[in-house]
Amino acid sequence: MQIISELLVYNTLSRKKEKFEPLNSPFVGMYVCGPTVYGDPHLGHARPAVIFDLIFRYLMHLGFKVRYVRNITDVGHLEGDADEGEDKIGKKARLEKIEPMEVVQYYTNRYHAAMDRLNVLRPSIEPHASGHIIEQVEMVKKIMDSGYGYEKNGSVYFDIEKYSSKHKYGILSGRNTEELMAYTRELEGQQEKKNAFDFALWKKSDPEHLMHWPSPWSEGYPGWHLECSVMGTKYLGEQFDIHGGGLDLQFPHHECEIAQSVAANGKMPVKYWLHNNMVTLNGQKMGKSLGNAISLEDFFAGNHQLLDQPYDPITIRFFMLQAHYRSPLDFSNEALQASERGMKKLLSAVRTMERLGTSDKSTSNISEIRDKCYEAMNDDFNTPILISHLFEAVRIINSVNDGKETISKTDLELLNETMKTFVFEILGLKEEEKSDSSMVDNLMQTILKIRHKARENKDWATSDMIRDNLSVLNIKIKDTREGAEWYIED
Ligand code: ZN
Repeated sequence: MQIISELLVYNTLSRKKEKFEPLNSPFVGMYVCGPTVYGDPHLGHARPAVIFDLIFRYLMHLGFKVRYVRNITDVGHLEGDADEGEDKIGKKARLEKIEPMEVVQYYTNRYHAAMDRLNVLRPSIEPHASGHIIEQVEMVKKIMDSGYGYEKNGSVYFDIEKYSSKHKYGILSGRNTEELMAYTRELEGQQEKKNAFDFALWKKSDPEHLMHWPSPWSEGYPGWHLECSVMGTKYLGEQFDIHGGGLDLQFPHHECEIAQSVAANGKMPVKYWLHNNMVTLNGQKMGKSLGNAISLEDFFAGNHQLLDQPYDPITIRFFMLQAHYRSPLDFSNEALQASERGMKKLLSAVRTMERLGTSDKSTSNISEIRDKCYEAMNDDFNTPILISHLFEAVRIINSVNDGKETISKTDLELLNETMKTFVFEILGLKEEEKSDSSMVDNLMQTILKIRHKARENKDWATSDMIRDNLSVLNIKIKDTREGAEWYIED
């Protein structure tokens, strides 16, 4: 298909847009760094999930067979930045006196629930770091065999100076070793390392550390960067197509992943590195310590002092897709409310489209709109441009509906297919979630309308049947001058 050959993606590694040519087309291997599961998912979790869901959906739409791996980090994510401090999940387990795996399960469930509401498709494989300790130990051995790892007091570190003498460390972020030195100088607890910027492959555990495994070096646990190298290799091969994640992971996490894979397997692991930009809230960086990390649950329920109202999960999804994934995105009540209005307009036009009449000829060029939608997505997944073309379609739909323009039958079919493909299948939007109570009320209004019609036609049998059946459910109907009302009798 013509469309496939034209897809351009911005590769962080080359710092330019490149034609997307998978290593083994039509198969595509895509790895995205997933969540660390020790707290409720918040906005920062939603953006990479939604963005890579968009990419996953679009690649599948183009006909690629995508194996999408997104990991669950459940071990090795420490409180400190310098391979020191308590494991975040272990700490939560200790404080709450529960098993670390209970913490992991609890927050994984909550993550899934939030992602489902954002209409994020589940990945093909969702591996846990703790389920791949044997493979991680094997990779540390390979790195040591190739001479890039060294042991000190039961812990193993990656030797960046030695690696830099043969390879380029910092290739992704463009940082050099002097900058690394400046970055790591202030960090605490560097005594065991040859150089402050070396990173841990394996850490010997302290006695109070809850999660630990045997290894040739010590009873301990793997360094955080190792899991992604290991699980990427295991499920997608030593070289695969796409590696994604938030821009905050580019350095040091992804840089370390590259170094580990090159050291262990002798090749660059990834063809295209894709990074989404970060979210801010009212212009400020978000973070637990800053007190403005609003959980997704709170967004959906409107339960936070910074929020004016609840926001439908799909509104949040739409808002994220209105910005290009490589641009920063600022959340504010005003911006979300504008998105809410925009999305209602879009979805309402899709409903209007269903009942449009057709004419002999069209006043607008529908196939041009369809082509522009593909062009936008093929230009590094440019969703804001795509959405602007969809709104041009909205304008045409409303104009035809008002009798100001006409559309042919063939063009209406093309428009219908274009709108449904891009709005639902690719952008992953859907009608607003209805709460159970509003759903029940809508159903009751329908039933009352049928009863009203029956009474008008003097069809007493139907009218009585509705009353008797509702009565069994303790639902009573009261006729008033304005029409019928319903209530539940205690
Ligand atoms: Zn990762």
